[in-house]
Amino acid sequence: MPTTILQHSLSSHILSLLRDKTTPPERFRSLTQTVTRLLVAEATRKLPSRIVPITTPLEETPGQQISVKLVAVPILRAGLGMLDAALEMLPGATVGYVGMERDEATAIASAYYCKLPPLENAHILMLDPMLATGGSAGAAAHELERAGAAHITLLCIVAAPEGVAHLADNYPKLHVITAALDRELNASSYILPGLGDFGNRLYGTL
Ligand code: URA
Repeated sequence: MPTTILQHSLSSHILSLLRDKTTPPERFRSLTQTVTRLLVAEATRKLPSRIVPITTPLEETPGQQISVKLVAVPILRAGLGMLDAALEMLPGATVGYVGMERDEATAIASAYYCKLPPLENAHILMLDPMLATGGSAGAAAHELERAGAAHITLLCIVAAPEGVAHLADNYPKLHVITAALDRELNASSYILPGLGDFGNRLYGTL
C-alpha cells in the first residue's frame, strides 16, 4: 500500500504544537487546518490535468486544469476539523460524510451514517486525522468502495504502525498520506506519543 510521510519543516513544527497538551482548542483548530493544507497539497501533487488555453494580460499561453472529479469525505467527528481547509484548497470538490462507531463487545467498526455524492471516476480524499488500529478507516474505505470509489487517499495527521499494517493487509489499493508515523498504540488504542483524543482537543470536549 503506498504510504507517504510528509517531509516538511512546517508540518513538523505544526505537529509539535498539536501534540502539546497546553495548546487550546481554538489554536488546535487553526493548526489542524494548516497541516491539512500541506496534506492536500501532497495528495494532489500528481492529479491528471488537461491543457487549456489561457490569455495573460500579455499573450496567449497553455494553462493546466485538474481534470478529475474530487470528493472530500471527513470521517465524523474528528475529520470535520480538516474539511474547511480541504475545501479551501479544492473549491470544486463535493463532500460526503461517513460516521463510524465501534461495537463495544466485538470492537468491530461499522458506519452509522453515510451520505455520499456520486463517487464513480472520482479521486476521493478521506479525512481522518488519527489512524490508530485502522478499523474505522478500513470500514469507511469499505463503504466508499461499495459506493463505487476506485481511487481513495486517506489523509491523516498522526498514524500508528498498527493502523498502517491493518490497511496494507486489507486495503492495499488505498494511498495513505500522514504528517507523522508514531511509535505504537497503548492498551486503550491511543497513539503514542500521539496528541490525545483529536475530537476532544478540537472541540474542547472532555
Ligand atoms: N483517536 C484519537 O483521537 N487519538 C488517538 O490517539 C487514537 C485514536
